[in-house]
Amino acid sequence: MAGTGVFTDIIDGDIYKYYADGEWKKSSSGKSVSIVNPTTRKTHYRVQACTQEEVNKVMESAKIAQKSWAKTPLWKRAELLHKAAAILKEHKTPIAECLVKEIAKPAKDAVTEVVRSGDLISYTAEEGVRILGEGKFLVSDSFPGNERTKYCLTSKIPLGVILAIPPFNYPVNLAVSKIGPALIAGNSLVLKPPTQGAVAALHMVHCFHLAGFPKGLISCITGRGSEIGDFLTMHPLVNCISFTGGDTGVAISKKAGMIPLQMELGGKDACIILEDADIDLAASNIVKGGFSYSGQRCTAVKVVLVMESVADELVEKVKSKVGKLTVGSPEEDCDITPVVTESSANYIEGLVLDAKEKGATFCHEYKRDGNLIWPLLLDNVKPDMRIAWEEPFGPVVPVIRIKSVEEGIHHCNASNFGLQGCVFTKDINKAILISDAMETGTVQINSAPARGPDHFPFQGLKDSGIGSQGITNSINMMIKVKSIVINLPSPSYTMG
Ligand code: NAP
Repeated sequence: MAGTGVFTDIIDGDIYKYYADGEWKKSSSGKSVSIVNPTTRKTHYRVQACTQEEVNKVMESAKIAQKSWAKTPLWKRAELLHKAAAILKEHKTPIAECLVKEIAKPAKDAVTEVVRSGDLISYTAEEGVRILGEGKFLVSDSFPGNERTKYCLTSKIPLGVILAIPPFNYPVNLAVSKIGPALIAGNSLVLKPPTQGAVAALHMVHCFHLAGFPKGLISCITGRGSEIGDFLTMHPLVNCISFTGGDTGVAISKKAGMIPLQMELGGKDACIILEDADIDLAASNIVKGGFSYSGQRCTAVKVVLVMESVADELVEKVKSKVGKLTVGSPEEDCDITPVVTESSANYIEGLVLDAKEKGATFCHEYKRDGNLIWPLLLDNVKPDMRIAWEEPFGPVVPVIRIKSVEEGIHHCNASNFGLQGCVFTKDINKAILISDAMETGTVQINSAPARGPDHFPFQGLKDSGIGSQGITNSINMMIKVKSIVINLPSPSYTMG
């Protein structure tokens, strides 16, 4: 059970502590932040509301701890990460329980998230040992006008203190996808978890504590992003920000100083269906891609663009599959569970009502009870409707009927987002041409958009992000290249 067994140290009464300097602490603010269970809509957990002074202390400790961590052999860093991964997997049950209570993640998916996170940490340790152990050797005579008098040795050095801010929907997985790369590369890390999901994240951080990482190397500051976010992201001791979330990321990128940014933001992933597509395959993928975790995924199918000639068949198949989804509580492992907050539910409702007013066809009755919204397919959506462009982050999928492939590509590219997209066709040549034309970070051919497997590059264009994620890319993003040049008094050429 959460907060018990090996986790008793992380809670004081009914308020979870924050983690700094290798210890679990109560904030001097005397204030806490409530985490409302999306299903019961009652406070389920409480976490510390950390102060700016506590953030300063954490940053100072992180700076000091990083210096000695950078001198820790790579194999030892990897060994500790493997240990943390094993501990995390061992305690998957209480951590998954937090995900069920804080973010209404269906029970089985919650366990999967924790196990996947353990695997991600181990893979990161292995990948780090390989790629960080290699540098480059360059000689000067390849550039015009130079003799072979300079040897350049490049190596990969850490950036310093990494600030990691993940979103609510994968608070464990999207935290370790930043923690693992940061630590293996020799950085220290300060985590600011999402408020919904903070308790799962605190349990996960405790697994790193149990693995025996040095004091101050990892810390976890809790509190509302709207209150301590700016202080964290503009902190002078932060050397890199890795953020995943919504528009907040755009605002952070304008305020942050001259430091590397990794931003994984929202998406409006389009699914283009051609006349020759396997309609059964497309329908299954739209349901899986659009409605898993109630549509609260950055890579959910967020707009279907289907050729008119196959639209009736597709809509009928998707409608029937959606009608079979189970709706209810995450504890019962239902397909559709309450969305994360009441304000999210209100936002989704606003998009649905706008579509209704403007004439969309409702394939199912719109139903809502508290934060629980029944899955809904909207047909005949037109470009003047908000749902054609905005990210519902809920179980509602709009269908736009198109007359040509160009119309579909145009709609996809007119979005301010560019995360992923997908195309369904049996013609590989068309699939490649369309994939190349879609302005998104990734295009899936004959499958729904997805983040992962976690070592695949993952990136968004336009307002969907800066930089690229995925284990290898994240490690490379959290290092800088350093060169040492050996200058010889006279040219030296290696003889055969
Ligand atoms: P969000 O509202 O942007 O919050 C993300 C994180 O930012 C949370 O930890 C939040 O903390 C924190 N935050 C809020 N205000 C802040 C500030 N001023 N400074 C610094 N941090 C601040 O996003 P969300 O609702 O959690 O997640 C949904 C969004 O994430 C969707 O748009 C989705 O598409 C996107 N997403 C993208 C990816 C990707 O890889 N591209 C993956 C998953 C989700 P609090 O919770 O305390 O407010």
